[in-house]
Amino acid sequence: MSLHEIRTIYFKPLRSVTNMSDNESCLFCKIVRGEIPASVIFEDKFTMAFMDIFPISKGHCLLIPKQHHVNMLDVDIKVAKRLGVRLAELTRKVHSAFEPDGVINVIANGVGAGQEVPHLHIHVIPRNEGDKFGFLFPDDYREEMAPRDELDSVAKTIRASSDLPSSK
Ligand SMILES: [Zn+2]
Repeated sequence: MSLHEIRTIYFKPLRSVTNMSDNESCLFCKIVRGEIPASVIFEDKFTMAFMDIFPISKGHCLLIPKQHHVNMLDVDIKVAKRLGVRLAELTRKVHSAFEPDGVINVIANGVGAGQEVPHLHIHVIPRNEGDKFGFLFPDDYREEMAPRDELDSVAKTIRASSDLPSSK
């Protein structure tokens, strides 16, 4: 498979990111089914870890649920628990293998958050001083602490909100 073909497949699901039942054409479902090659690190009944084909740094890999869930907004909680355990293991393994300065775990939930493949995946990315990857913070970030009553109010809103998948 050529890089062009992989890129085409990799980015194709962008257009169907809102179709939660679309696992026929899902890139990561295809990897789970063995229809697309992947450099697998480990897999169990519920999860799979493999190398990102566009690594930001040496050791950059992905952890996914084998079942098709779009992201954290629709994932089965039992699967999420299993992912949490495996994420800790994978992060430690990557850290131990390459001894980077640090390792960052990233999940994008939705196109607006930068999600490109509509199948839940957690990036495990080794970080080293001077690398070009990072969050982009606003210029005025940390200039002023938010007022406590405002933080309490936002916390209250989140606390009162449903954690069930949105029907919108
Ligand atoms: Zn999928």
